[in-house]
Amino acid sequence: MQGLLNEWRRTNYTKNVTPDLTGQDVIVMGWVHEIRDLGGIIFVIIRDREGKVQITAPSKKVDAEILEDIRKLRKESVVAIKGTVQEANQAPTGVEIIPKEINLLNLANQPLPMDPTDKVKAEIDTRLDSRFIDLRRDNVSAIFKIKNRMFHTIRDFFYENGFMEINTPKLVASATEGGTELFPITYFEKEAFLGQSPQLYKQMMMSSGMDKVFEIGQIFRAEEHDTLRHLNEAVSIDAEASFMDDIDVMKILNNMLEQVIIDINEDCKEELNILEHEMPVPDGPFPVVTYDEAVDIVNSRDVEMSWGEDLSRAGEKALGDVMGGFYFLTEWPSEIKPFYVMPNSKDPTKAHAFDLMYNNLELSSGATRVHQYDVLVKQIEEKGLNVASFGSYLKAFEYGMPPHAGWGVGADRLAMVLTGVENIRETVLFPRDRHRLTP
Ligand code: ATP
Ligand code: MG
Repeated sequence: MQGLLNEWRRTNYTKNVTPDLTGQDVIVMGWVHEIRDLGGIIFVIIRDREGKVQITAPSKKVDAEILEDIRKLRKESVVAIKGTVQEANQAPTGVEIIPKEINLLNLANQPLPMDPTDKVKAEIDTRLDSRFIDLRRDNVSAIFKIKNRMFHTIRDFFYENGFMEINTPKLVASATEGGTELFPITYFEKEAFLGQSPQLYKQMMMSSGMDKVFEIGQIFRAEEHDTLRHLNEAVSIDAEASFMDDIDVMKILNNMLEQVIIDINEDCKEELNILEHEMPVPDGPFPVVTYDEAVDIVNSRDVEMSWGEDLSRAGEKALGDVMGGFYFLTEWPSEIKPFYVMPNSKDPTKAHAFDLMYNNLELSSGATRVHQYDVLVKQIEEKGLNVASFGSYLKAFEYGMPPHAGWGVGADRLAMVLTGVENIRETVLFPRDRHRLTP
């Protein structure tokens, strides 16, 4: 009985089967969400990406053969159904389809590895093991619909603001910022690594004259984290712009995120509703707190932090409690920032570097970069790194490198904020963490 697609094509997504189509024939295609056989009448709910619709098969109106086919259906099987639209006040969407022809495209085995309806709550590990079914649930697909809208706006924003999209290699010969945190791989007879950041490449692109570039791509971090905000493979939204400084690129980041929130509120009302999440459009530019101020705030909340230290987890929480929402953390000590960050010319202990935070979550790090070859070499040495291993990068600074600045935003972390979920694994289709490499 399992069928091929042949000439069958969907005419309408379920949400476009509306009462004004009464009397017309449509073809819907999707998954069997529910079957209720009351003897004289059978109800089947068909679900597709956009929603659900009721198929109503009264034995008096529908051929015996079709009734027989319907009775063979199992939950989560894939079907194509051709039928006539009819207004129906009792149906969930005010409309039903009286079937004329059924094409069972793929019968689902039973029992299912997990319940795709929300009746039985499953643990995240069970859900991730059967992610393809998990994604059939409204509250899971809502996360990815919002994330999709996020990427859509971000790409539009970049193009509208004159950024060119680039793709840089993920197979690299050496570390971006030092030897730790890297996944080593075998590259023919050489050792190589998975890229932890496109940093060095996007900077080299500044010397190419492309002026403003962005990349949305994978980053790999070999840290043995076991937190709700770290993965070993994440997606980073990176931007780099010539003839700009940290303040300029902070404005770009602020404007981009504001547009993302506006668009999600406009286009993802239903998804925000399903997730019971509100994401108000920020009122004016994001507030700024300097690193010095942050140290005072953290200490005032009884979390010890000395000047020159990175924020501990407790420090991030203390600061997040006071600041709330989006805020920039600026004027970081040069010592704890990477070698490519521009020091303040008046006080070189401080750097033109910033983080963007949301409550206690770091979303982005950015900075004005060093564009002077000599300063860069000096800073690489000061960090105890091997200048020779940066040869091909440094070359780009010897023959015309403009001043530039940029940032990287963790896409999956941003999606956490936009969807209100607490675990980064929820925002990634197939997350990679310390314990998970499949599916
Ligand atoms: P954290 O201190 O939170 O570990 P980081 O300072 O090491 O982050 P960066 O190297 O500054 O991270 O990377 C830029 C952005 O990329 C971060 O602000 C974050 O949003 C994202 N990011 C970095 N590492 C990870 C990770 N392991 N998993 C998910 N996102 C990450
Ligand atoms: Mg950072």
